[in-house]
Amino acid sequence: MHLAGGTVAERVATLRERVDEVTVASGRERGSVSILAVTKAQPRDAVLAALAAGLTDVGENYLQEARAKYDGLPPCTKHFVGHVQTNKAKAIVNLFDVVQSVDRLDAGLALAKAAGDAGRRLRVLVQVNVSPTERFGTAPGDAPALAARLRDEGLAVDGVMAIGPLDGDVDAAFAKAHAAFERVGGTTLSMGMSGDWERAVRAGSTMVRLGTAIFGPRPARERSLA
Ligand SMILES: *Cc1c(COP(=O)(O)O)cnc(C)c1O
Repeated sequence: MHLAGGTVAERVATLRERVDEVTVASGRERGSVSILAVTKAQPRDAVLAALAAGLTDVGENYLQEARAKYDGLPPCTKHFVGHVQTNKAKAIVNLFDVVQSVDRLDAGLALAKAAGDAGRRLRVLVQVNVSPTERFGTAPGDAPALAARLRDEGLAVDGVMAIGPLDGDVDAAFAKAHAAFERVGGTTLSMGMSGDWERAVRAGSTMVRLGTAIFGPRPARERSLA
């Protein structure tokens, strides 16, 4: 894919280098922060371009959209980052490797049942709410108890996901998510998007979720969904 500002491969290479610079400047090991390519509202070609550029993790918000794009993809790890509707749990489990957006018990229970039925151990993150502008997510203080309960149900809870606030004290919000991650445990703190990933990495993120920075602006039609 060719876009203003370079190809997807060029953008990914530049971002990889910048993410590593901020990681090292934050006193952590080069390569310890991964990049998730968020392809919502982008065509299947965008997913293929991200994988061809060397990324291994892709993410989607909408099940319906992902279905068409994910058919016959090269090997990669697929992350669901959208709101989990309990009646879609089975379809989500069938399509995705990781569910980053478990924000309440009933969503987790539905996923645990679907994963059990499929004979799979599903990797999930607990989504915490650290932003007044964000609708979903459990209170950071409730995350450890939710994680414990979900582990009892057989889910592989591997950390925390957070969406930063659009304005206000972004660093304080990320610090709250980091504190919740330390209490939940696991390997992944998924935090930081195109506009705030540097602050997220400084606050301890291990995975930044990038859409616009890789693919350019989302097509207008779908932007209203996002
Ligand atoms: C859209 C989206 C992203 C990527 O956002 P950009 O600002 O385009 O990088 C990351 N995470 C979630 C949960 C999203 O919905």
